[in-house]
Amino acid sequence: MESYQLLELSEWIDGKVIINNDQSIRYLSIDSRTIADAANALFIAIRGERNDGHHFIAKLYELGVRNFMVDHTFLYFHKCKEANFIIVDNCVEGLQSLARAKRLKSKCDVVAITGSNGKTVVKEWLAQMVGSSRRLVRSPKSYNSQVGVPLSVWNLTEQSQLGVFEAGISEPNEMSKLESIIQPNIGIITNIGSAHRENFESQSQKLKEKIKLFKGCSTIIYCADDALIDDEINKTYPLINKVTWGTSDNAQIKVSTKSVDDRWSFSLTYKGEEYLFDSSYTDAASKENLLNTISCLFVLGYSAEYIQSNLAKVVPVAMRMELKEGINNCILVNDSYNSDISSLSLSLDFLSQQSKGTNSSKTLILSDIYQSGLTDEEICSRINELLLKKGVSKLYAVGEALSRNATCFQMNARFYNSTDVLLSNVTQNDFNNEAILIKGSRSFEFEKITAALEQKHHETRLEINLNALVDNLNFYRSKLHKNTKVLAMVKAFSYGSGSFEIANVLEHQKIDYLGVAFVDEGVELRKAGISLPIIVMNPEEKSFSTMLHYNLEPELYSIKVVKSFVAALQSEAITEYPVHIKIDTGMNRLGFNNEDVWLLNALLKEYSFLKVQSVFSHLSGSDYEAFDDFSMHQFNLFDALVAKIEKTINRKVDKHILNSAGILRFPNHQYDMVRIGIGMYGIGPIESHKLSNVIKFRSYISQIRKVPKGQTIGYNRQGKLDYDSDIAIVPVGYADGLDRHLGNGKGAMLVNAQLAPIVGNICMDMCMLDVTGLDANEGQEVEIFGPNIRVEEIAKSLDTIPYEVFTGISRRVNRVYYYE
Ligand SMILES: *Cc1c(COP(=O)(O)O)cnc(C)c1O
Repeated sequence: MESYQLLELSEWIDGKVIINNDQSIRYLSIDSRTIADAANALFIAIRGERNDGHHFIAKLYELGVRNFMVDHTFLYFHKCKEANFIIVDNCVEGLQSLARAKRLKSKCDVVAITGSNGKTVVKEWLAQMVGSSRRLVRSPKSYNSQVGVPLSVWNLTEQSQLGVFEAGISEPNEMSKLESIIQPNIGIITNIGSAHRENFESQSQKLKEKIKLFKGCSTIIYCADDALIDDEINKTYPLINKVTWGTSDNAQIKVSTKSVDDRWSFSLTYKGEEYLFDSSYTDAASKENLLNTISCLFVLGYSAEYIQSNLAKVVPVAMRMELKEGINNCILVNDSYNSDISSLSLSLDFLSQQSKGTNSSKTLILSDIYQSGLTDEEICSRINELLLKKGVSKLYAVGEALSRNATCFQMNARFYNSTDVLLSNVTQNDFNNEAILIKGSRSFEFEKITAALEQKHHETRLEINLNALVDNLNFYRSKLHKNTKVLAMVKAFSYGSGSFEIANVLEHQKIDYLGVAFVDEGVELRKAGISLPIIVMNPEEKSFSTMLHYNLEPELYSIKVVKSFVAALQSEAITEYPVHIKIDTGMNRLGFNNEDVWLLNALLKEYSFLKVQSVFSHLSGSDYEAFDDFSMHQFNLFDALVAKIEKTINRKVDKHILNSAGILRFPNHQYDMVRIGIGMYGIGPIESHKLSNVIKFRSYISQIRKVPKGQTIGYNRQGKLDYDSDIAIVPVGYADGLDRHLGNGKGAMLVNAQLAPIVGNICMDMCMLDVTGLDANEGQEVEIFGPNIRVEEIAKSLDTIPYEVFTGISRRVNRVYYYE
């Protein structure tokens, strides 16, 4: 691996430096949680909307990191006496400049891919097809942002023979920067969907912006059938060579389909020659991705024969990493994304993050890695180095290359020639309290291993998209003033979606507080390693000492609770403890009202060890316009009561009253903090189209049977059939949280992109769907609610609210978390 002295790097980018002890740098890192090789890393203190890397420097210094890029706001150089600093105006730009300079040292072909969909797939397929014919560097995962692109380009070296990078933008003026970093000589635009964010005025503005990526290219590749793209590129770049594909006459690579059934047979006519191809992909998106990939291979000089004989290598690209509950208290991270060393490194980081707070040791199940341009031995010694750094204590290595190089590995390692050999030699009892990463090339069929280690309940599950959750959180945050704090309510198992996993994401998003309903919920979070302040909304007297022990902060809502909490503090001789005062302004549930505030004040005066952190109230109708007058009344009453309390204790406290709906509807009453709950899950009274779907409740068809007309389905002979029907059995019932009132045609599920009504009564563990004419198959996925069947609709038909539907999903349903 190449390394550079910090002084040299600072010269590349014209940064100021403070060098105390110059060191060689191999890695760049922007994430304080995942620095592995502290001595050789340069930590770049990126200031994000929420996280500021500068805040982590002191901690990283303690962990042995010695090289930092900071901006002028950093003042504490004296606290890091042995560290070296590059000081720049803006660290994102500093990172970009570093990558730009590194790019210039590499002379190889560089392909850049942009477009609305398919970037990652085309990039991965190119890599799969190029195989070991060239030393290739590509973006890990979909690192295509202002930060992701420079981190990817940094990996180009003088030995690289091909670079393939994605470029994505979300607002105007971003592409020129990415262009100047990647400096591609070959460009691909996949397509221009309408899906993207609102930051562009029009489709054509977005397109104009995207194709800025091709400014310095010698060849641009795209689909000639897309008139918008074709026009714009010809207009903007009349002199650049274009290689276009499509069915229209002006396409240079003429595509014609010979047949499609199980496979797609097609011919491409290029430079006067016709070549036949055949692929197992038959859907439109995959065809488009294949044609972009093949066109690029032609441009790179690969022969039609090479492409034909390697086309079968193209395997689906899994975009997600799945987190599952494993047997014997293990957690499993299943990543079949691709197999190279940089993605292995990312997956191990994800594993660390997810196992934080548990005492599980780290285990890796790994297949041979096919990395172009390195010998098996080089690959193995790099893997060994990485595993040592990331603290992997047990390795199960599958494949001949790994087995041949067994001596490279310095941890507890076992070697198997194939997946089947592994499966017949290990048992579930070999795994206990471990965080296990399962990472294999597709041909190794590691899904068999996952299946063997997965804790099986049944196949009905709740999928939680953590990226979407963060997007929603940030959408709500975009409505807040800069200093408004955020408390996230994670009560009731985080609205049914899982406590620790959600709290862990929120902690990393740097929210200020968590709120739970009961002490037990808070204890569970503390045991899992969550260190954010936590407010308990319903503190019970019998658990006060547990609360103190776990540093949980009570909501005090009545004189009685104040008095008994005072007693608990006194008995443990605690001299100061944070508390939160709940005021009732109209809910008539918990809280002090106008009449008893004076008594409260007397107690606060007497027991000054009650440190009032915040005073809050709750709106009773924040989502309905009809109650706006009442909400105003609540705000006014709140102001008056808070003033009395602040006067008594003679200082300001944090005030908060808004829940999710309130944040959107009363942004002028955000006070010092807001309490977000259901909004994180994509439910909002207004602007709901700007929120993303987070939760998908799904099951599958376990069986399909033909039932003749006139028969009935299920208990009490309710579902009477008017026609010969195909009936699908789905293993989800009311014990899973599927409300029984949805039976008998009231509810439906999504099968094969179509609605299939529930027939008959819903049973405890299963239900039946009418899939007549839907081309449904056994084993097929069924969506109960999610992106297509909105939970709001289900709630409406049940005459309830999404909150009840979410929290009604039983704990026996497996929760699966993923990042896109
Ligand atoms: C649950 C809860 C919230 C969050 O409400 P949402 O409507 O889900 O945003 C806020 N404050 C209190 C006191 C709560 O109990």
